[in-house]
Amino acid sequence: MFQDIHPHTISYDPGHGAPQADDHVVFLKGGRVLLGQGEEPALPVFGALPPALQARPDALTYMFSMDGAGFYCCAGETEPFGPFAYSNMRQLRGLEPPQLAFACATAVHIAGWYGRNRYCGRCAAPMQAKGDERALACPECGDVKYPNVYPVVIVGIVHGDSLLLVKNARGEYRYHGLVSGFVEPGETLEAALAREVMEEVGLKVANPRYYKSQPWAFSHSLLMGFFADLDGDPAVTLDGKELAEARWFGRHELPPAESLMSLTWDMIEAFRNGAA
Ligand SMILES: [Zn+2]
Repeated sequence: MFQDIHPHTISYDPGHGAPQADDHVVFLKGGRVLLGQGEEPALPVFGALPPALQARPDALTYMFSMDGAGFYCCAGETEPFGPFAYSNMRQLRGLEPPQLAFACATAVHIAGWYGRNRYCGRCAAPMQAKGDERALACPECGDVKYPNVYPVVIVGIVHGDSLLLVKNARGEYRYHGLVSGFVEPGETLEAALAREVMEEVGLKVANPRYYKSQPWAFSHSLLMGFFADLDGDPAVTLDGKELAEARWFGRHELPPAESLMSLTWDMIEAFRNGAA
């Protein structure tokens, strides 16, 4: 899956010093990310920044390191420079090597959070990096903010030897998937998945079993995959808003894998192979 980058590791090093020439820098503008436009697009490195930007390392905020290389984000919006242009976030998924793709997606998630929290939500003073951990602190009222991670459940609904696949009615992803949704405040994961299944396809489920998780930077989420057994009538009632289609597939008639990086397809493949 996307996050499987062993033996590479992402770590937060509070003692990381000033940016070095090979450190990566995230620039965001209007929901797009600055990437090189060559055959192998990549984030700009500090050494490739225009001299005026290199002269202002205080405008860069350290986010994390991978294999010793730092990832920074830049405050505010910057006009494109050199061979770089603002690109759709989806391009990050295809970066090579794969560990760079995952690190860049994570960096864009965190950079977006910094960008949306430049001012204190309580007293409107400019926020400052907390320094000893990845957080922002308000120098006026002391409020502290940590990066947002939204919990999402993904449910593989099992009925004997069949699995329920769905297709979204909106958004960019229109391929086969599984029922999924955000966890509401006050909900357990088990309650959230039962509610999402009832809302989206009108089915009851029982015996939820945790499978695996996946950080999904593109929606600022932590995806948590469960399998659960159908409890009762298999007749689907589509909610009509979120889903365009929902259909039971026998284990041996499941469509071919559409993505090797997603938890959804890891789950579908596990079911196909009898591992779930
Ligand atoms: Zn404040």
